[in-house]
Amino acid sequence: MVFKMTYDQRNLANINKLANNTKKAALQWYQYCSEQEIDLLIYETTRTLEDQARNYRSGASQTMRSYHLVGQALDFVPVKDRKTIWNGFGSPKNKKAIAKAKQLRSTWGGDWTTLVDKVHLQYEYRGYGTDPFGSGQEAVTVPSPINVGSKTIMNIQETVNSRYGTGLKMDGKYGPATKKALIKGFQTELNKQYKAGLTVDGIWGPKTKAIVRVVKKGARGNITYILQSTLYLGGFDPRGIDGIFGTNTEMSVKSYQRSKNLTQDGMAGRNTWAKLFE
Ligand SMILES: [Zn+2]
Repeated sequence: MVFKMTYDQRNLANINKLANNTKKAALQWYQYCSEQEIDLLIYETTRTLEDQARNYRSGASQTMRSYHLVGQALDFVPVKDRKTIWNGFGSPKNKKAIAKAKQLRSTWGGDWTTLVDKVHLQYEYRGYGTDPFGSGQEAVTVPSPINVGSKTIMNIQETVNSRYGTGLKMDGKYGPATKKALIKGFQTELNKQYKAGLTVDGIWGPKTKAIVRVVKKGARGNITYILQSTLYLGGFDPRGIDGIFGTNTEMSVKSYQRSKNLTQDGMAGRNTWAKLFE
């Protein structure tokens, strides 16, 4: 039997209200969740100014500049045994769903530090209110999800193994082992270039964090390669993993920063590296 979400009709009706590019990304996400049999209820997408004003007054929203107003956000809750589970955001299935949403370049309110909003996913597109509705068409730039067994990931694994002897299984999957190997590579490079004296253990600890240098446009070399690989694996394809920090890498860093609510300066500094390797 094919899996169907408990609230499939309501979910699709709500997704259908979203702005064009947000809708595309939401549908990709929804399809993934369905394939993975991750049941959920998308209980709200667009909101009117009136709704938002009401939420604002009641304290349910902290801002009148909500992404719901511009059709670039959805609120959802995990479902289990046909019931909504409001404290179910930490379940393995739901974590998978959120990881996928982020890979599709959505921002999750559960990552916010000032006001945690676990039900909330928003799609930045080109910023607040930039995604057109209906027939107001413009070029659609939905990021392509990374496929399991991806050649690019295998290339990264092969390169990291040959440079740093990390012995990764070349399975084309981005998992904890690949991330750890990239951190090892990063530590090795910091030791080489800055005599950092770090233990190469693949752990993103305080000593490694403290020694990080800013990498920006014009940079070349293995650290840039590691940056590009990590961006790619996070769903922010820099269009070329070549160790040369050009315009595309800068754009990819900016998109990544936007998705994490970091300053969008296009440079990989301490905060950006920290998010990438956390
Ligand atoms: Zn929301």
